[in-house]
Amino acid sequence: LQNQLMHADRLATIGQLAAGVAHELNEPLSSILGFAQLLQRNAALPDGGRKDIEKIVTASLHAREIIKKLLLFARQTPTFRGPVNLNQVIVGAIDLFRHHFEKEGIELACALCPEMPLLAGDAGQLTQVLVNLVVNAVQAMPDGGRLLVRTEVHDGHVICIVEDTGMGMTEEVQNRLFLPFFTTKEVNQGTGLGLPVVHGIVTAHGGTVEVASAPGAGTTFTIRLPIEPTPYWEDRPES
Ligand code: ADP
Repeated sequence: LQNQLMHADRLATIGQLAAGVAHELNEPLSSILGFAQLLQRNAALPDGGRKDIEKIVTASLHAREIIKKLLLFARQTPTFRGPVNLNQVIVGAIDLFRHHFEKEGIELACALCPEMPLLAGDAGQLTQVLVNLVVNAVQAMPDGGRLLVRTEVHDGHVICIVEDTGMGMTEEVQNRLFLPFFTTKEVNQGTGLGLPVVHGIVTAHGGTVEVASAPGAGTTFTIRLPIEPTPYWEDRPES
């Protein structure tokens, strides 16, 4: 427990620092992007110059995406508190990737618990959690494979399990998974913010994230989210 607390504390500190830097960077970045886009509209621009400016715009948009993820990671409390059906969140997130699965030779299997209690949570943020896990799973299976998404309900918790048959990871990688900017991917493939965002959102919902993996043996992420005994929407009298 001591270890977990220290880890959580360190994450929170890094998060605050990262959010501060992200805010500071936002302003100069907006200028770069704004002026580059203005230049793009300049009809007198030679073709060579136009290509260079396009690169500035693309790189700025990429940087803005990183900043957005950082701010999301640093935010420790959910914006909305439900009601959310996690099965619907999963189906919504998976729908974003359907064409991708086919293209990448990934077989998708869903085993969703038919009796899903509503959670007090932020549907948008929980969608982000699923998207980040699915993106990682897809990237871990470059030669195709099987993605299994399951939900279960027990002990007052909704449990979501995302399992892939991909490359898996060493213990060393597993120990650093939730640290911001930790990535084993190429520059344009990963920012190292996917799992810190997952951790931040799940923790803000009072839940936990666990990983089980071994090199060559695939990876399983397990997310546990507590069900509130009397959520606010059941408290209110019918009108
Ligand atoms: P990113 O995906 O941008 O690298 P993440 O925080 O999402 O950042 O993941 C950090 C690292 O964890 C990845 O670079 C990868 O090495 C490892 N990882 C995450 N998910 C998986 C997975 N499903 N299979 C194998 N490795 C994974």
